[in-house]
This record gives sequence, C-alpha cells and structure tokens, in this order.
Amino acid sequence: GKSTVVITGASSGVGLYAAKALAQTGKWHVVMACRNLPKTEKVAQDVGIPQDSYTIMHLDLASLESVRQFVSNFRQSGRSLDALVCNAAVYMPLLKEPKRTVDGYELSVATNHLGHFLLCNLMLEDLKNSSVADPRLVILGTVTHNPKELGGKIPPRPDLGELKGFEEGFKEPYSMIDGKKFNSVKAYKDSKVCNVLTMRELHRRFHKSHGITFSSLYPGCVATTALFRDHYRLFQILFPLFQRNITGGFVSEEEAGARVAEVVSLPEYNMSGAYWSWGNRQKKNRKAFIQEVSDEASDGDKAERMWELSAKLVGLA
Ligand code: NDP
Repeated sequence: GKSTVVITGASSGVGLYAAKALAQTGKWHVVMACRNLPKTEKVAQDVGIPQDSYTIMHLDLASLESVRQFVSNFRQSGRSLDALVCNAAVYMPLLKEPKRTVDGYELSVATNHLGHFLLCNLMLEDLKNSSVADPRLVILGTVTHNPKELGGKIPPRPDLGELKGFEEGFKEPYSMIDGKKFNSVKAYKDSKVCNVLTMRELHRRFHKSHGITFSSLYPGCVATTALFRDHYRLFQILFPLFQRNITGGFVSEEEAGARVAEVVSLPEYNMSGAYWSWGNRQKKNRKAFIQEVSDEASDGDKAERMWELSAKLVGLA
C-alpha cells in the first residue's frame, strides 16, 4: 500500500505543492493538516490533487490543545505515519504589537516553533512505529535564519540571546525569545532558528534510537506565496520581480513543493541532521547540497537549552 505523510500548512504555497507532488507519485497518501478545512478542500481540488490520495485533518498550530487533538485524531484514523513535514508558518512583518495565542504566547513563534515542537515530540512514537524502512521528519528552514548567507544578512538578524523570554514563561510582558522588545520580522527569523535547532536536536536525541531521518531545507525564495500576505501591497508586487530579475533567487511554488517532496521521499536525502539547499541563485537542474547552518543554529548548548525550555512551554516537561 501507500505510505502516509502528514504535511502541516498544506492549504497554501509550498505545503500545498509538496502535497500535490507527493500525491502524484502514487506512492503517498497525504494528510493535509490545516486550520481551515473548506479552504483546504477547495485548493486541493483547484490544483488537482487526486481525490483518493489525500485526507484533510484539522490542526491549528497556534493552540497546544489543537495539536494534541490532531495527534489523537490521526491515531484514530489507523494510518501508520511514515513522514511528517513541518511546513506551516506565519510571517507578520508590519505588526507593531505582538498577537497572542490562546495559550498566551507570541503568535509567530508559537505557530512556527512551539506548535511544531509539540507535534514532533508527540509524533516521534508514531514515526518510530512506521512500517517503512526510512521514516522521515522534515522541518522547513529559511535562508533568513543564516547570516552566513547573503539572504540572511539583512537586519534584523535572528538572535535567541540567553532565551530569557522563554525562561520567563513567554507570556506577557514577554514576546521575544531573547526577552527584548517586540520585533515581528525578528520573531519570524528567531522561530526559524528554533526550527533548525529542533531538527538538529531531534537528530542528536532520536536518530539512532528511533531510526528516523531528520532534516531541514531551504526551498529557495518563493516570493509569490501567501507568506507575504501581511506585507505592503507594493512589496508583494516588487519582491517577486526583484527575486526573478535581480537576485535570480525566484522559485515557483511548484518547484519549491517538488523540492520538499524530494527531501521526503528520495533515497539520496536519507542523511539525518542535514540542512538541504539549492543555493540562492537558481540554475536549471541544479542538485541539492548540504548547506552549513548559522552559528546559532549549530550551537549544541543552545539547542539543548531551547529544547528544555520549549518542552516546558508546551507542557511536556
Ligand atoms: P504560505 O503562507 O503560503 O503557507 C503557510 C501555511 O501555513 C498555510 O497553509 C497556512 O494556513 C498555514 N498556517 C498558518 N498558521 C497556521 C496555524 N496556526 N495552524 C495551521 N496552519 C497554519 O507560506 P509558504 O508556503 O511560503 O511557507 C511555507 C514554509 O516555507 C514556511 O515554513 C516558511 O518559513 C518556509 N519558507 C518560505 C519561503 C518563501 O520564500 N515563501 C522561503 C523559505 C522558507 P492558511 O492557508 O489557513 O493560512
């Protein structure tokens, strides 16, 4: 039979096209884990994902209760879990004051990192019990996490600092992981550093014992997705043009989705702990390579500290 992959945020952009690419192989049943069920049903049909190759299940990553409910619903479906893709994210570059989740946490770090952190931890057991030889857990990264690369040099740069905001419980008045003043763009980048740290710490803790391949990827600059929906309208028009014509970094949603699908399913990506990239300038038929992550994202002590504090915040410790 088919293998099962869960993809978070499969109702848009990269996640939607990753779902389509995997479904089209005929080898995968895709569980689209999304917060908006009617929207997901509509876009799945619009892009032509074969009817019998997907299931839509509710998941709101901005609610820890919803994450737990999703895992329970998934288990009740009786499917084995063979791959998990943590893809959903929010980016709110114009926000001046933090928004909060029902749990009281700053929305972008809670959605992009904490919700996924809980999901990964709960679903480790399911992946371990997978019947396939090489179960995988893939977390989306981004070049903006990494000041070593050109795309990561633009301020504000991510910095988790001493994780004071997490240490203090991450509720009001705290909204940033480092405990400093709210900055929405930095909050997004910080959350993506946490995504990479989580992947590396998962690898360190569970690769050998659980036989799971953990990896991340930067799919390229997908300048047309809804990720930029909260940006200035002019930015939404100019950014794709800039990426297409000036930086050469432009990647279509379809291509980015296909890259995610490769990392999930092709044998050559079975390297646990790796962060894959296709570079910042797009070249035809370019092969993926392992990209070095930022200093902060490769800091083992920070990874452990981030892990322990996140576990407390999501109620695991
Ligand atoms: P989109 O905005 O197109 O898609 C984001 C997805 O996340 C949507 O399906 C959205 O659901 C979902 N989502 C948001 N909040 C929640 C929530 N609380 N619970 C469940 N799902 C939620 O963005 P992209 O496709 O561009 O981004 C996908 C991933 O790729 C992200 O991790 C991003 O960091 C990464 N990435 C993107 C790049 C780019 O240039 N676009 C570059 C590098 C990395 P809904 O449809 O309901 O809004």
